[in-house]
Parts: sequence; C-alpha cells; structure tokens
Amino acid sequence: MKAVQLPNWKSEPRLIEVPDPTPGPGQVVLKIAGAGLCHSDMHLLHDFEEGMLPWHVPFILGHENAGYVHAVGEGVTSVSIGQPVAVYGPWGCGRCEACGRGQDTYCIDPLGGYDKAFGGGLGTDGGQAEYMLVPDARSLVPIPEGMDPVAAAPLTDAGLTPYHAIALSRSKMVPGSNVVVIGAGGLGHMGIQIIKATTAANVVAVDVKPAARELAAKSGADTVLDGSAEDIVAQIKDATGGGAEVVIDFVGIDSTMATAVGSCKYQSDMTLVGVGGGSFPFNLYAPPYETAMRSIYWGTRKELAEVLNLAARGLITPEYTTYSLDNALDAYAAMAAGELTGRAVITP
Ligand SMILES: [Zn+2]
Ligand SMILES: [Zn+2]
Repeated sequence: MKAVQLPNWKSEPRLIEVPDPTPGPGQVVLKIAGAGLCHSDMHLLHDFEEGMLPWHVPFILGHENAGYVHAVGEGVTSVSIGQPVAVYGPWGCGRCEACGRGQDTYCIDPLGGYDKAFGGGLGTDGGQAEYMLVPDARSLVPIPEGMDPVAAAPLTDAGLTPYHAIALSRSKMVPGSNVVVIGAGGLGHMGIQIIKATTAANVVAVDVKPAARELAAKSGADTVLDGSAEDIVAQIKDATGGGAEVVIDFVGIDSTMATAVGSCKYQSDMTLVGVGGGSFPFNLYAPPYETAMRSIYWGTRKELAEVLNLAARGLITPEYTTYSLDNALDAYAAMAAGELTGRAVITP
C-alpha cells in the first residue's frame, strides 16, 4: 500500500510503498477514509533530533484518523467488518487509572511502553496510508449514522482537543461571560463552534490572518479581532468589558501568550493548547490574581464520542481541504507555507 512516512528526524515526509498491515489477536485494520494533517506534524518533522523523543523513525504519519473496519484479529467482537469508526489517537494500556476514565493521554504505561510508541502517527504507524493497524479495538469509537468518516478524521484531534479544553472551563462559560479564542486555525475554529454549540458564552476570536478571521466569523465568533494590531490587548479588554472569564491560546508563541495573559481578569481560566513553544513571565500581578493556568493534551475517549455526536447533529462542522494520497506531500507544503484554512485531510 501507499503511505506517507517520516523517514528520519529533521526530514521531509515521503510517499512510499509498504506491505499492507494484518491484524493480530485483539487488533483491527482500518481502510482509511480520512487522515488529517496537524500543525504538530510540522514540529514532528523539524524540531527533534534522534533521542529527544522516546520514539523511533521511520513511521507512517497521521494521528487524526477515521475509516472502515477492514479486518479484525482473533477475539475482536466490538466492531464489525465495514463499520465506520474513528480512532481515539492516544493508545494507553487500558488498565491504569487514567485509561480507566478514558484518558489514555496520561496513561502510565502506553502500548509498547514510552520507549516504543504513544499512538498511531506518533512514533508508530499512523493513518496517512491506505490501511492502518490499530493495536486494540478499544481505541475505536463508532461514527454515528449519516456522518461522513472523512469529516470525522479531523474531529479526532482538531475537534477533540478544543472540546477537552472547553470542557475543563465550561462552568465559567455562563450567560454574559466572555471566552477569548486566540488562533482560528484547525483547532481554533472548531473551538469557537463548540463553545457556541454547548455554552452561552460570548466568543472573541483573535487571529493575524484574514482568512482565519473569516473562518472565525463563519464559525460563530461574536467579535473577531486582528491579532497583529498593536493595541490588541486594549481591543480585547474593550470587547470583553475588562477581560475574559476564559482565554484559550491555540497558537502558543510568545506574542499570543502575552495577548492571552493580557486578556485575563481576576479568577480567569487561561489554557494553553498550541504547540508554538512560547513562554511568558509569570509574577504576582500577571496574569491577574487567582487566574488558573493549565496546558492540555488531546482529550478523553468519552469526549470524542461527544464531539462526533455534535457533528452528526450538525452543530459543529469542521472546515477542511481534501488531498489524495498521491498529492499528500502538497498538503504538507501548503501547511508549511501557512496556506491552509481549517484542516487538510488526506483521503486515500
Ligand atoms: Zn495533532
Ligand atoms: Zn494506561
């Protein structure tokens, strides 16, 4: 089969031919319908030297995956051949306390151990290929009837991650409250839709790119601001009546984190999602008193089912461009050039 492989650290992906996977006991092979590209893939290609991550190259890229059950190994009874399913991306042991509450992201003993793999497309073979091996059927979430599996693919990360960030602060998203969403790209535009679909909060979206601001408005943001404006913090304070109850930074570079800190008021929640690698000085006065800061990583299996349910009911709709497997490298080039609006999804 054809697949997009990361051949080495600090290298570009390549399109290769590899043998089709076959399922062992408890395992499932999917025929991939859609495999999303994530901004974190850019960091995966370029930021790491051998030994910095506990993973080994080469592996097939793609950690946002959905498709149809193609073959099952011995003992698999929870899914049937041809069934459309989404892949819950982080692969935990299934036995520890974190896995027990469906939060494999914080598993103490991920499948294969930390020195081997953490999930498909993250140190072991992912879904940017015709077929994908999923090592445990419990990592599959049924796609609700009537929903396109291609649209389900980006929801497994670009939908799930903002959903988790929002869920942790939902008690503050009451009528009259404000949420500042920084970055209206693949995750941010889903975040805006999820806030509007599941809470009563007012959304102020901030992005430096005109196309992303358009997407923010289309996604339901009440106010959309240009993040490159010199007085952006003053504009946010103005739009939120002095600061927001919740601020979510989907970019995570120095400048967006400074904007995030400036957007808080007393007792805000400030959540960092973006992998931009930035930081900000933390002291007694900034962010304001009793602001709760957290970073997050992906979401829970239960939340993925909730995200798929919202999408199946038409309450959230991911924006994406599809690329064939033959043109997959064009998708990487478009992402590197910052030319994508929403997500890129490879459809083998
Ligand atoms: Zn991702
Ligand atoms: Zn575990």
